[in-house]
Amino acid sequence: MSNLVAAVLSSSLLAGCASLMDDPRMLFVSDPRALQPMEGFSQLPQDSRVWFEPGAEDYANRVAELLDKTINKVESAHYLAFAEPVQIYVCGTEACFKRYVLTPKLSAAVVPDNRLILSPNLNERESWRLKPLMLHELAHLHLGQRVGHYHSNVPVWFHEGWASLTADGGGAEFATDEQAYEAAQSGKRIDLSKRDVPGMRHKASAFDLNIHIFYRQAMLLVKSLKQQDAGRFKRLALALQNNQDFEIAFWDIYGAGPQTILADALVPESGDNKAAAPASNNQP
Ligand SMILES: [Zn+2]
Repeated sequence: MSNLVAAVLSSSLLAGCASLMDDPRMLFVSDPRALQPMEGFSQLPQDSRVWFEPGAEDYANRVAELLDKTINKVESAHYLAFAEPVQIYVCGTEACFKRYVLTPKLSAAVVPDNRLILSPNLNERESWRLKPLMLHELAHLHLGQRVGHYHSNVPVWFHEGWASLTADGGGAEFATDEQAYEAAQSGKRIDLSKRDVPGMRHKASAFDLNIHIFYRQAMLLVKSLKQQDAGRFKRLALALQNNQDFEIAFWDIYGAGPQTILADALVPESGDNKAAAPASNNQP
């Protein structure tokens, strides 16, 4: 494992994402715990991609059963195969999870150094979220393998929106479309004109948005982009995975910036299948 690995905390379950959002440093500061070797895990005999803490074999089997299907869905959403083999580490205890995951609040999954770690929550009180969060995290892992985790070239809203859309809402399930639209109508919305740079990434707090609304708006924005023109969306997706500059690739493909193309994406009656529209009065 490389000891040059930079910060690699992925947003996972919303609790994890929320704590990351509360502390923006978490997204780009190297943390020694991300470099710790994964010790004490056993490889699942039935599926070499899954490693588990002793005692969590049943949980690991649940993960293994979902793995082919979730990988296929994530690859399809990204138009490319995973660049590297997927490895998932299944923690059966909080102690195990906290050894590798820094977030003070409970997180379900994190991706340090191309590893996906699942918390026991997803086999217990949040058992119903296992599949959507595997999809969401695998989407982060997929992009991370190609361009680095949470590369600032890709805006946070696009990162989270794409992962949540890939997961059919997984990671963005604690706010409804209506709540996201309402917030936008009242002037609280992701500002697409703001460009992320290393050390300055625009997250929920940058837009005075509740974390759940932020995720939902992000998903609706990416969804709108995909629905407007699937061909262009695919070109953008491939360009980003080829590490092209987000802004330049977007302009090349759409002939305008995201704030123009997505001006009406958070207006409920026009958010879907809407062609490129001029900036509307909803723009803050
Ligand atoms: Zn996420």
